[in-house]
Amino acid sequence: MRTSFWTSLLDLIAPRRCAICGGRLEPQEALLCADCDNELEKTPFPESPYDNLMARLFWGQFPIEKASAWFYYRSHSDPSKMIYDLKYHGQMLLGEDIGEQIALRHQPFGFFDDIDAIVPVPITRRRQWKRGYNQSMQVAKGISYVTHLPIYNKVVKRQHFSQSQTHQTSIWERRENVRAAFQLVDADKIKGKHLLIIDDVVTTGATVIACGQELAKAEGVKLSVLSIGYTKE
Ligand SMILES: [Zn+2]
Repeated sequence: MRTSFWTSLLDLIAPRRCAICGGRLEPQEALLCADCDNELEKTPFPESPYDNLMARLFWGQFPIEKASAWFYYRSHSDPSKMIYDLKYHGQMLLGEDIGEQIALRHQPFGFFDDIDAIVPVPITRRRQWKRGYNQSMQVAKGISYVTHLPIYNKVVKRQHFSQSQTHQTSIWERRENVRAAFQLVDADKIKGKHLLIIDDVVTTGATVIACGQELAKAEGVKLSVLSIGYTKE
């Protein structure tokens, strides 16, 4: 965390801006101004991480422990722009700041206490090359700064499919593609561990399920899930 002296000094040179409204941040504020932080529709999941709407998406799919998200996601809402900036506007460091805020929100509930390592959902090499970074990895870094948990970003990889998703007509085909997209590459490293999967936004859970099922091929793995947003139906 930044000390207040350096924050004050940096604020004089380059004022920090709220990631949602763009307003100037006070020295004690981080990422969001007080107004935007109050407006943000945070989920109650940190209080009941074993049984909530998001956790239920994963029940029966893989050995799920806890699931939580920072806030309820709605497309075109003001907070959704923050995720858009992270994914499409090259705002790489924003991901780390978001990760820190997510960690600070969950830490008081002991959410990280029994977790061994963080696994960001991988993106394809092609997308990583285009974007320059994996947004979930950036969030994982921020969480790691706060929790000191190690990040395993090479235990599972994501393959590229030549068909564009927009050309697939059926949901079934799309799901089949997502299901086959992940490949476990280092089962030994994760054997018997409790891993925290990080994704940006969870809606149907299909991506996390596919990634989780691949990780669960390693013996004795337990999984928890944490995301920036959760889309409430
Ligand atoms: Zn604001």
